[in-house]
Amino acid sequence: MDVGGPPAVVQKKMPLTPKAIIYQRFGSEACYKVEEVHESTQNECPGLSIPQKGPCLYRCCLELPDFSVISEAFKRKKDAEQSAAEMALEKLGMSTTTDDSTVQDPWDEFVARFSYFFSNEFLLSHHPLSGHFRAALRREGQLNGLIPISVFAICDTKISNLCKSINPKVESNPLLIISLILRAAPRLSGSVSTSEEQLSMRREKPYPPEIIQSVVNKESSLQESIWVEVVRIPYLVEKTVEPLTLNFPSEGYYLDVIARELGLTDAFKVMISRTIGKASSEMRLYFCASNSHLDPSLEAVCSKGFLNARASYLSGHLIDGDAILASIGYTWKPTDLFYDDVSLGTYYRVLINMTPSGAYKLSREAILTAELPGTFTARTNWKGSFWNLICTFCRQHHLFEHVFSVVSNPLESPISPESHNLKVTDPGNEKMNACGNAVGGSKQVSRATFRCGVKIFSKSQDLIIECSPKESFKKQNAAIQNAAWKILSWLDKYFRKPDIPLEDLMSFGDVLDVQFHHQQFYRKFSLCKSVNKFWQSIGTQESRLIGSDYMNQLNGMVGDGGCPIIIEGPDSEVSPSNGALVCIIYSICLVKETEYMKELIESSEEFEFEIGTGSVMLCVEGVVTQMSEHQSAKFYMNLPPQEWILASARDTSIILPLLTSGGCNLECSILLLRVTEPMEDRMEQARFSPPLSKQRVEYALQHIKEYCATSLVDFGCGSGSLLESLLDYPTSLEKIIGVDISQKGLARAAKVLHSKLSRSTDATTSTMGIRTALLYDGSITVFDSRLYGFDIGTCLEVIEHMEEDQASLFGDVVLSSFCPRILIVSTPNYEYNVILQRSAPQEEDDDEKSQPQPCKFRNHDHKFEWTREQFRSWASDLAARNKYSVEFSGVGGDGDKEPGFASQIALFRRRDECPRNVAVSHKYQVIWEWNATDTDSSTSAL
Ligand code: SAH
Ligand code: MG
Repeated sequence: MDVGGPPAVVQKKMPLTPKAIIYQRFGSEACYKVEEVHESTQNECPGLSIPQKGPCLYRCCLELPDFSVISEAFKRKKDAEQSAAEMALEKLGMSTTTDDSTVQDPWDEFVARFSYFFSNEFLLSHHPLSGHFRAALRREGQLNGLIPISVFAICDTKISNLCKSINPKVESNPLLIISLILRAAPRLSGSVSTSEEQLSMRREKPYPPEIIQSVVNKESSLQESIWVEVVRIPYLVEKTVEPLTLNFPSEGYYLDVIARELGLTDAFKVMISRTIGKASSEMRLYFCASNSHLDPSLEAVCSKGFLNARASYLSGHLIDGDAILASIGYTWKPTDLFYDDVSLGTYYRVLINMTPSGAYKLSREAILTAELPGTFTARTNWKGSFWNLICTFCRQHHLFEHVFSVVSNPLESPISPESHNLKVTDPGNEKMNACGNAVGGSKQVSRATFRCGVKIFSKSQDLIIECSPKESFKKQNAAIQNAAWKILSWLDKYFRKPDIPLEDLMSFGDVLDVQFHHQQFYRKFSLCKSVNKFWQSIGTQESRLIGSDYMNQLNGMVGDGGCPIIIEGPDSEVSPSNGALVCIIYSICLVKETEYMKELIESSEEFEFEIGTGSVMLCVEGVVTQMSEHQSAKFYMNLPPQEWILASARDTSIILPLLTSGGCNLECSILLLRVTEPMEDRMEQARFSPPLSKQRVEYALQHIKEYCATSLVDFGCGSGSLLESLLDYPTSLEKIIGVDISQKGLARAAKVLHSKLSRSTDATTSTMGIRTALLYDGSITVFDSRLYGFDIGTCLEVIEHMEEDQASLFGDVVLSSFCPRILIVSTPNYEYNVILQRSAPQEEDDDEKSQPQPCKFRNHDHKFEWTREQFRSWASDLAARNKYSVEFSGVGGDGDKEPGFASQIALFRRRDECPRNVAVSHKYQVIWEWNATDTDSSTSAL
């Protein structure tokens, strides 16, 4: 049963199934267990125990945080699940089977419900409200039997649903229920007396003494008084949120205790918010009633300067004055008074859980370390789902619903179209899906691709945000996750910097295919500004970068960082590259050097992430990429927002004074446990001997020899593996140059080339003949005249890392401007992947285990992988445009057999002489240079 994944499609306007409603409310906290039941015939015919092969039936147990239900037996699993969901909804007072023919006046139902509340039987029931009734009977003197009206608004779903049907505004402001109760009160007179001024109700006729007796007897077995931690949220934003411990005497009424803490004499004017935080939470805000709660016409009016922005933000409706956040009250559970401590840490966790990246951080249990990834990769490097995060976000912010619409783009018979759910688009519109499969081109792809859009609506069903990604995916789930990731990333931008200029927000929306309704959006999230001020500090300090920006930033990290990074342990030479999966042990401590204080804030014994996706703090990733397996590192980092530290720390009582006294740092220790290379590297090494990279070197060497080449440029040299290998052979080469845009790659290349060139004695150097070695930082799509007219250009396994138009641009620039005598371009042969995957260890794959796997890319950083036909057509056109000839070859496997070489190569030869004069243009930056003439000759820009 797939509970974690999103339901295929949630269509607006369609009545939701019970299961869908349960999902919206409980997300993955709702757990369905289906079991088979075999109808036994033995009971009917005790003498004959012939095993009957009757149809197998299914029964479903639905476990929710507070209770569970078991359905009757059904022929289909589906029906059993729906039935269980239906039963649960009934229990929650949210039944969907309201029969239209017997529709009553909601006011009649309302009054009937109240009559039931004040009945004898109700007092002894398990209904959460009955706890208040029993407690009221223990109240002394005048207060005896008096029940605050506010509790009706929160304890009974039926009442709140009725209220919503009477006044839809209740949806956004549940406190309006109180005014509705007051309106209904006159119809109850005779049995229930209501005091509008005291906001309370009392049964007129006393309960029969035996009932009171049984209640009192039951309560007398109760425990002594209890101490509960709560949090006070002052309405003045300047005042900090503070922890409190309240004492609740066993014989008293808990709301009276909270009332006193709020400066009230008794419970009546205590208002109670809806639950805060998780769906199953009992945490609520308690605050004083003000007129705006009682008069619907005043609903939008904010009282004069008392608005409690933090509390209002948490609850989603306006709250004035100080508020107390506590987890206490009566529940469906048989224990009388439920309570739980709410610490300062709890408060901050709730707060950051309302931000898109905060929810991600919490779900990874790494508030400081984890970051909402800066790119989406279909590879599952995190066990959760972005879709769940969107669900959480919408629930926390009381948004109406989010609608995913999946568009399937079928080729030959795709998955069975789930009737109305899948809209089918014209396949002709698609040229290439995001996974680069030649959709519509090659015959082997016979599966549908999916695109998914998301819309988020307000409670009043106004469209607020819409995301329609252009990419399509082979898996429906990937399409949904991608859309969810895009919306989250966009929202995150706003939450980190709520005063971000509209234009910036819009242009960021363009990048992520997100559009939003400005007015609705700003109205909905208006409180963000006053509450999320703290995001701004991090927003500037470490701005969120997406995709290649992120990589550039990461590359730029090497070598700087302000303070020293201490890396210890022998270099095992297994260091993570882009796309590698790493597993680390880490701990982060708050340290104050001057006082020798050190407090653990966050740690993990096993934390996995993928390099290059931006799923951890930039500095952590930057350090890990400099480490090799089994090494450990220690470094200091700047303080993130205080709220993150407080949410992460186990014990805020020590941390808080430390933090406020200033002068603190975070010390981070990391041990690199494991490095798992991306599939490309693993496959290349596992299957071929010599490895493919070596075979490419040999291919290049062959042509160096053939042309007696003296100069070579490696376009996209990466960490310099080709250049380094060339130094192992005596060749005619005198000058070798590498170009790349990756600082990190260039730094490594400089390191290896430098040590190799300076290690070799002068004698061997001269036999090698290399006079000059140079590394440039620059993009190979841009011309630099210093690389003009070389003998050989190589560009190995690079173009697939660029967008297709960039790859074509590179092809034209290199042939028309750089004009090498020959150019060698290699790129993976997509058709060969089937074979590679067969030999590679099976990568874990969630939902399609049994089906034949469609090909994946060899490395998630690849923007495309071409079939032989695609590569040929690209290279032939390029050659024809630029007066080059081209021939095809490859390495790995056999070019004459299907499916061709593992890695395909195009060899371009210049036909004409190239023009002698070329305009000087220095666009690249020298990163490192070595000359044979001076002995210690490196000039280093590192
Ligand atoms: N040729 C190397 C590296 C291949 S990985 C080898 O065979 O080992 C691809 C490399 O292309 C990366 O180092 C990446 O930084 C580089 N690259 C991608 N786009 C580039 C561009 N526009 N200009 C320069 N280098 C680029
Ligand atoms: Mg590659």
